[in-house]
Amino acid sequence: ENIIYMKDVVKSYKMGNNELVVLKEVSLQVKRGEFVAVLGPSGSGKSTLMNIIGCIDVVNSGEYRLSGQNIDAKSEDELSAIRNREIGFVFQKFNLLPKYTAIHNVQMPLLLRGLDRKTAYEKAKYVLEKVGLGDRIDHKPLELSGGQQQRVSIARALVGDPNILLADEPTGALDSQTGKEIMDMFLQLNQQGNTIVIITHDEEIAQKAKRIIHVKDGNIYQ
Ligand code: ADP
Ligand code: ADP
Repeated sequence: ENIIYMKDVVKSYKMGNNELVVLKEVSLQVKRGEFVAVLGPSGSGKSTLMNIIGCIDVVNSGEYRLSGQNIDAKSEDELSAIRNREIGFVFQKFNLLPKYTAIHNVQMPLLLRGLDRKTAYEKAKYVLEKVGLGDRIDHKPLELSGGQQQRVSIARALVGDPNILLADEPTGALDSQTGKEIMDMFLQLNQQGNTIVIITHDEEIAQKAKRIIHVKDGNIYQ
């Protein structure tokens, strides 16, 4: 079962009178349960690919289906609903709310969906335990190490049971040892059935995933 299905996807940006083609007829499939690293140097088109996978941006031509839904022909509101339902985002810089505790950060997406406070709290606690932070749920981001903050953000991404965990340079703000621990966390979550796509420029980090997709000058090589 394909979660990600891309066929001949072209993405370009207008630069004055010129057109910069960033993705050149990219075709890609990711099945449920895979753990994929998208590896490429800076400027190669990784973020552009991630934005398309994450329904943050749409293709110029070609086809993109996410969990069987055609993404080309959607409105902003529809894209936003699909993002919320399908994808758990993890960022390089964690993007946690600094004034809120770990558990409050993690239950936030559930409260925004209209879940009641008690259920949201229990679910957030369960997911924080799953990422090994059961004893840190009342800590605020700055009272946690970088690796712990990233695990809070992974818990926040997981709490709504997304079909894909999509992580953009998730180890980019961490030292190499902590980065490897985060990759071990992803491996463990993948073994529990989560589909994971990470974007990285770090070869050693990418090697930890089960499949590597190389991006170079807007083409992919697998
Ligand atoms: P990476 O994530 O691998 O560093 P990006 O996808 O961010 O690569 O960028 C690929 C190329 O597309 C770069 O040359 C970048 O300058 C260009 N680019 C990215 N986003 C835009 C945009 N919104 N408008 C114009 N050019 C862009
Ligand atoms: P999984 O391993 O996929 O999380 P489980 O059978 O453990 O599957 O859980 C099924 C669902 O119930 C999941 O969405 C999980 O997050 C949630 N869940 C499980 N245990 C608890 C709990 N103690 N409190 C709140 N939610 C829970």
